Amino acid sequence: MTRRTATNVLLDTALKNFYGAAEEMELSENLIAVLGSSERRLEVSVPVEMDDGSIQVFKGYRVQHSTAIGPAKGGIRFHPDVDVDECEALAMLMTWKCSLAGIPYGGGKGGIACDPLTMSMKEKERMTRAFAARIAPIIGTWQDVPAPDVNTGGQEMVWLMDTVSKLRGHTEPGTFTGKPISYWGSKGRTAATGYGVATCGIELLKVLGREPKDAAVAVQGFGNVGSYTALTMAAAGAKVVAISDVTGTYCSPKGLDVQKAFDHITAHPKKLLEGFTCSGCEKQGLSDVLFVDCDLLFPCALEGAINEKTAGQVKAKNIVEGANGPVTPEGDAILDEKGVLVVPDFLANSGGVIGSYFEWAQNLSGYFWTEEEYNNRLIHIMKGNFKLVWDYAQSRKVKMRRAAFMAAIQRVADVERLRGVFL
Ligand code: GLU
Repeated sequence: MTRRTATNVLLDTALKNFYGAAEEMELSENLIAVLGSSERRLEVSVPVEMDDGSIQVFKGYRVQHSTAIGPAKGGIRFHPDVDVDECEALAMLMTWKCSLAGIPYGGGKGGIACDPLTMSMKEKERMTRAFAARIAPIIGTWQDVPAPDVNTGGQEMVWLMDTVSKLRGHTEPGTFTGKPISYWGSKGRTAATGYGVATCGIELLKVLGREPKDAAVAVQGFGNVGSYTALTMAAAGAKVVAISDVTGTYCSPKGLDVQKAFDHITAHPKKLLEGFTCSGCEKQGLSDVLFVDCDLLFPCALEGAINEKTAGQVKAKNIVEGANGPVTPEGDAILDEKGVLVVPDFLANSGGVIGSYFEWAQNLSGYFWTEEEYNNRLIHIMKGNFKLVWDYAQSRKVKMRRAAFMAAIQRVADVERLRGVFL
């Protein structure tokens, strides 16, 4: 009957969401106790020689929430707000994400509390390698497989893999995913998360009897997830009326030239929209993207964007969560009252980790697929999972988030029951 609570909002939300769904499923108290805790929460110090010769010690973390189904799986983020509770919340979310996706992993997450935007490449490289050495004892192809997350990408994965490979004396491709194509990565992985998010948006329009060509969409965040979401929606014929990043909102009721925006960030030294413009484009404030009148809003930035302060002003009819945890429970309640439909994060953004699974499978066999093969398999799984959650929600008359939780928890609980408690 004991229930954990946390001061960290994201962790508290993750626990509440889990307990709520578990109770509705009438999961046993034993299983609630097991799945409400994390198997391992590791904190490390990461000493880095800065370019001016001084040593700065950063804090790093890796949390493994569950390895019931398979190796822990989840990203590594570099951000000033990273802490162990945030990592635990995101690790739990990964457990449900992998379970719902039907892939053979548990959930993990890690990160370093730092501001990568103020660091040089050399400083980031030294920090990433030091972190790799510190977490090396608990990661591995069959233990825990990290991947990119906020402010990390292919380059960071190469530093991590290279460090661990050199420490172990052999090539370790299966220990990290999200690697560049030239170094054990797979064609399709970079776009996979955004591609999957957009697929959920298109599937949602379909069940609502709509078509992308008649839909106006807004995308918050123009990093890896947001940019490929916007590109895929535009390619499907949707009108992308607003995009944003830390430099502001860029909007046009006529529709933006998303390819031009993508080329802009590709050429920008910090991968930002700063200075972007196209025909009809107007620049607005940072959070204005959330309040644009549109059919689909894709929050693809950080957690907590749609909360008790912002949810009331949302004009979008439907939301597809590209980021992890972009809507708080208070925000969710307000959206629910307004009749806004929400496709939950761990369904919508699961294309990333499903793509990681494809990369891992290719690394294990040493045989690479074509991009077409990769994308076809990804779309097939995303569509199937969307339908599973949609049908579950319809038949039990619950919201999609609750339905996704119930389906995901069920599979982990079944495996826990089969395996029993040893460690
Ligand atoms: N960081 C991504 C996520 O939150 C990808 C994780 C992975 O591929 O392991 O889903």
